[in-house]
Amino acid sequence: MSGIVWFRRDLRLSDNPAFHESLAQGPVVAVFILPEEGAQSVAPGAAARWWLHHSLAALDAALRARGGRLILRRGEPLSTLRTLVRETGATRVSWNRLYDPHSVARDTAIKTALREDGLTVRSHNAALWFEPWQLTKHDGEPYRVFTPYWKAALRAGLPQDTLPAPERLPPPPIWPDSLPLARLDLEPRIPWDRAMRTLWQPGEAGAWAALQAFLPRIDAYHEQRDRMDRPGTSRLSPHLAFGEIGPRQILATLQGQLPHDPLDGQGSAHFLRELGWREFSFSLLHHFPHLPETPLDERFERLPWREDSAQLAAWQRGQTGIPIIDAALRELWTTGWMHNRARMLAASFLSKNLLIDWRAGERWFRDTLLDADWANNVQGWQWTAGCGADAAPYFRLFNPVLQARKFDPEGHYTRRWVPELAALPTRDIHAPWEASPAVRQAAGLVLGRDYPHPIVDLAITRERALAAFARLREPDRSPTP
Ligand SMILES: Cc1cc2nc3c(=O)[nH]c(=O)nc-3n(C[C@H](O)[C@H](O)[C@H](O)COP(=O)(O)OP(=O)(O)OC[C@H]3O[C@@H](n4cnc5c(N)ncnc54)[C@H](O)[C@@H]3O)c2cc1C
Repeated sequence: MSGIVWFRRDLRLSDNPAFHESLAQGPVVAVFILPEEGAQSVAPGAAARWWLHHSLAALDAALRARGGRLILRRGEPLSTLRTLVRETGATRVSWNRLYDPHSVARDTAIKTALREDGLTVRSHNAALWFEPWQLTKHDGEPYRVFTPYWKAALRAGLPQDTLPAPERLPPPPIWPDSLPLARLDLEPRIPWDRAMRTLWQPGEAGAWAALQAFLPRIDAYHEQRDRMDRPGTSRLSPHLAFGEIGPRQILATLQGQLPHDPLDGQGSAHFLRELGWREFSFSLLHHFPHLPETPLDERFERLPWREDSAQLAAWQRGQTGIPIIDAALRELWTTGWMHNRARMLAASFLSKNLLIDWRAGERWFRDTLLDADWANNVQGWQWTAGCGADAAPYFRLFNPVLQARKFDPEGHYTRRWVPELAALPTRDIHAPWEASPAVRQAAGLVLGRDYPHPIVDLAITRERALAAFARLREPDRSPTP
């Protein structure tokens, strides 16, 4: 009897518990279902759709190399799964869990309905070291601070047992029809993906290549990870977001290939700690499912966010006149990725200097990041805006110019993404408005013509934000009903 494995954000064959367990019981039909537009509130953004297209192609090729194939469908997941059960005579359906609140509600309903149909239905964990509900404080309350969470994770022991990819796939009695990949309509209609094609290799093989390319640099991770001008980080995030590799596999690889215990090396231990932040974000979203809409620190609901569509658009397009912010947003637009330090600076500038609601920034990142992920994105935005768990305190406003001088000291990152400023001397690249007229003239730069004047004064907007945040600390005096 065959089984259906419903692939979602677990686009790999190795260490895939749902696939492995179903295959142990008989032939498997591997399925991906794209919900119809508008049918789900968690549709992937435009950049993620690009990745998904290529990752599905890679998964299909990996299945075919073993005698299988990937069946593609569009539609509402429950009715599509029921149709596939009828077409194949499958007696079991399995998947690896998703953890965003929308998917949890949908999958729980699907599990109940399919079980009522008489099927065996199983779900598994492919994405995390720990289920998001697994680590809690002694009193059962969730952790809101990262360091004790991470200590608890280390005490519990990070899992590193992995499952092998199957060598051959027995064919099911019937292969159901599949849509051609192009019919999922995931690729952009205009070719804005040119740079992404050269920079990324979506799929399981690409994930392993990225990990192997990073390993020789891992010992310097703790020193290099904040440098926006250097390839100091792993760039594994889109691969992790699509489940082309999982944290158990990463840990097992580090254990097998590093000459020391990965938790002993400064670089590798720091890298594992960042994966710990990923687990922490998933745990927060599980315990506080309203986080995508509501700040964890509810006082922030009273903050008088500014509606300013012109400033929001300038931020989105990398035209704020603050070079490091513009470099960050342009890197995102062109490559689908942004350096973590740049994400913090971009988010701080929007939510604090511009006082624009962090949710507008979260939405923009969700649409443009290849690694866009509910748990990490919402956590990153709330942390930076000051309203999240273990958040940056409200009085810590990043000064983008000082940060740029520290983490892009020669200006290479800024020159790459803001070429209008490339001829400025390093001393002035991060604050062109401070350069003398003679220096600007020598660099062929006219502010307001070649590159915008800053859309805000950093010092004045800093004071404005501090005043707004300070008012939140006063008791709420709004009238009660
Ligand atoms: C405003 C904001 C939004 C963000 N949105 C996302 C998002 O949508 N998706 C996403 O995967 N990450 C997000 N991050 C976290 C982080 O910036 C990226 O994970 C990281 O830059 C990815 O690059 P990397 O793979 O080279 O990371 P590395 O430094 O090599 O880290 C390895 C892995 O650890 C995880 N990780 C690293 N830093 C963090 C962190 N601060 N929080 C949670 N997990 C982390 C990621 O899975 C990453 O791939 C966001 C951060 C901020 C400040």
